[in-house]
Amino acid sequence: MSELFKNYIAGQWVEGTSVNDNVNPSNTNDIVGRYARASKAQAEQAIAAAKAAFPAWSRSSPQERHDILKKASDEILARKEELGKLLSREEGKTLPEGIGEATRAGQIFDFFAGEALRLNGEVVTSVRPGVGIEVTREAVGVIGMITPWNFPIAIPAWKIAPALAYGNTIVFKPADLVPGSAWALVDILVRAGLPTGVLNLVMGRGSDVGQAILEHPDVAAITFTGSVSTGRKVAAACVASTPMKKVQLEMGGKNPLVVLDDADLKLAVETAVNGAFFSTGQRCTASSRFIVQDGIHNKFVDAVAERLKGLVVDDALKAGTHIGPVVDQGQLDQDMKYIAIGKDEGAKLFWGGERLNRENPGFYLQPALFTECTNTMRIAREEIFGPVASVIRVKDYDEALAVANDTEFGLSSGICTSSLKYATHFRRNSEAGMVMVNLPTAGVDYHVPFGGRKGSSYGPREQGAYAREFYTTVKTAYTFAG
Ligand code: NAD
Repeated sequence: MSELFKNYIAGQWVEGTSVNDNVNPSNTNDIVGRYARASKAQAEQAIAAAKAAFPAWSRSSPQERHDILKKASDEILARKEELGKLLSREEGKTLPEGIGEATRAGQIFDFFAGEALRLNGEVVTSVRPGVGIEVTREAVGVIGMITPWNFPIAIPAWKIAPALAYGNTIVFKPADLVPGSAWALVDILVRAGLPTGVLNLVMGRGSDVGQAILEHPDVAAITFTGSVSTGRKVAAACVASTPMKKVQLEMGGKNPLVVLDDADLKLAVETAVNGAFFSTGQRCTASSRFIVQDGIHNKFVDAVAERLKGLVVDDALKAGTHIGPVVDQGQLDQDMKYIAIGKDEGAKLFWGGERLNRENPGFYLQPALFTECTNTMRIAREEIFGPVASVIRVKDYDEALAVANDTEFGLSSGICTSSLKYATHFRRNSEAGMVMVNLPTAGVDYHVPFGGRKGSSYGPREQGAYAREFYTTVKTAYTFAG
């Protein structure tokens, strides 16, 4: 029997009430590891431990917090190949993508190590004589973290690092599909010197462990990344609890990439293929709608299909693989369902969309390119979360912008053009939280705000110095000094 990876509660590694076999989507015969699933009672113990640790940790020296985060960063970066391999093995993104994500996690911890030292406030002159005002930021309390499967180490990193930097304590529930990277990250942080109770790991299903965190009165705030339907439940639970919880939600997207007639065709094709299909299309910022002007449409579609033909879909860990498998059977079923819906709706499956068999049993799917789509079709409106993109033909820039904004989502958007006028107008008028000019809709920096508008996000932005909006609370103190 192989090692059991345990939950981490109140400074102890503890077994759960059941065991989760972490399956490799590139080879379903390969079990990445056995991970303990926590019970609701264990989630409550974790919350109690985080609550007990909060007074001391929130008043700890910024130097102590800096040093722990820096140490964690150093270890993550030193082990990036190994952590990247684990990530690719459990999630299915290619090895270079997995190593890239592990590297990103290390950079995030490095950035927030610095942020621990940079937390500042304001001294303001009062409108009343003799009164001084200080505006300061304090830690929020126990933060519940609920994360999705598609970025198994980067998303936990961009939540855990700022929470710790600003003095909060944590109960962390990673996605049940990818506990391996989460476990490795917590192990690194524990050995970097976190005091007992500051960080707790409770692995398991959203419906029990996640729900227990949402319902507990001692959890002051919830940071959630995942689907819109779960996000809605999370927000409702946060408002229903007493006291109400601060909440931050990062959810889905239906991100448009506009391609104008004046675009550099080669650049547009690379931008489109990277944004829509790399990481198997399983990125919240993935382009899923190509909105293409009439004059370049046919050339663009032919060139994208040609490029897709040259991409290797295979085992995530194999050298030369460009696109790994879909994460699991449920997601594959969803992708195939939408491919069928697209055909039924009258879109043309221009290229791909076939199930593939490889040496080992896995969830392999050829990238799918639909043409002759309208923006009212379900494949153009609903998040598929797989390697499936729809091309919508438009006559001019104005129509392109209108179609790009005609969505309930607003995470990321992009435009390929050589016109400064259209690039500038699009940056200003795109209803998305992140706008890319001649760059893929997916792929962001770690030191600037991340998040969207409309149905994609709710609450303060994540990442960069903006993270302090969620992970701190403001205090305004008045002093009469005579
Ligand atoms: P999901 O909503 O199914 O699950 C997300 C997390 O919520 C998991 O940890 C899950 O166990 C937990 N959960 C489920 N039900 C719960 C409940 N009732 N109470 C508490 N927790 C519960 O999402 P997923 O399938 O893991 O991830 C894919 C989704 O995440 C996509 O919609 C994608 O767009 C989105 N996503 C968004 C961003 C972003 O930053 N905007 C980034 C990555 C992924």
